[in-house]
Amino acid sequence: MLDGKIVKGIGGFYYIDTENGIYECKARGIFRKQKITPLVGDRVKINIVDEEDKKGVIEEIDKRDTELIRPPIANVDKALIVFAIKNPKPNLSLLDRFIVLAEKENLDIVIVLTKVDLDEDGDLVEELKNIYEISGYKVIPVSNKTKLNIDKIKEELNGNVVVFAGPSGVGKSSLLNEIDKNFELQTGEVSDKIKRGKHTTRHAELLKLECGGMVADTPGFSSLTLDDIEESELKEYFIEFDEFDDCRFGFRCIHENEPSCAVKEAVSEGKISKKRYDSYIQLLNEIRQGKRRY
Ligand code: GDP
Ligand code: ZN
Repeated sequence: MLDGKIVKGIGGFYYIDTENGIYECKARGIFRKQKITPLVGDRVKINIVDEEDKKGVIEEIDKRDTELIRPPIANVDKALIVFAIKNPKPNLSLLDRFIVLAEKENLDIVIVLTKVDLDEDGDLVEELKNIYEISGYKVIPVSNKTKLNIDKIKEELNGNVVVFAGPSGVGKSSLLNEIDKNFELQTGEVSDKIKRGKHTTRHAELLKLECGGMVADTPGFSSLTLDDIEESELKEYFIEFDEFDDCRFGFRCIHENEPSCAVKEAVSEGKISKKRYDSYIQLLNEIRQGKRRY
């Protein structure tokens, strides 16, 4: 049997990337009986049925580490959350929402700040970089125009299955085109798909990059609802709260109005970003009020 990864699935056929190239496979009937649907990103073992025509059968599916819903891809290990330093003006509450969703899925997170060529004195970049670095995230400022740090992004991709996330207009497609010149051909199709909107069934696909690694062909977390997150769970996704764990109410502290709260104290001492804490409270209230759609 041959090891591989599902990179695309259409109408019951799966395309498996292996060391010997791509094979078109059907899944064994047993999976249907077990109610297992193969998913793009699954690591599988295939039996080759026809070497010349590159056809095979999926025999085994490995246990998934992660399973994203949007896009529907298994085993994504990293999210590159992309925001521009201006044009459009970054909405930090939205950025924090992306982070919460990626933390919930247990993904590695890298924050990419684009359009840094538009920041004449570097103040905007510094401010954003500070907020997220003291929160414990890796922040990479890039410019698709001057090509600043494109190589660093390639390093982040190499060896990983990555999803790009972020609002439209921040430069996600431009960045992917900088990373891989072949991407343009592939994304032409993608943006058409996106423009066609909700009525067409979109099949997620993993694209192999020449720098190593794979990227989802559609941006992550297109729905930004917090429906699945409990009020008491949200604090887990603000990772910088972790080390301040000696609140009077211990683990039950939600870090809001409780007395002797270590997190609130850290905010007042500037050890936790006030902006991040404010986002936390805002998202907490949103979850409470059931005003859950973005
Ligand atoms: P997407 O919607 O996130 O995929 O954003 P696009 O890649 O389509 O880019 C949106 C607009 O921003 C386009 O007009 C790009 O030319 C522009 N843009 C993208 N990256 C940069 C950058 O690093 N610097 C500047 N100045 N403009 C950029
Ligand atoms: Zn607390």
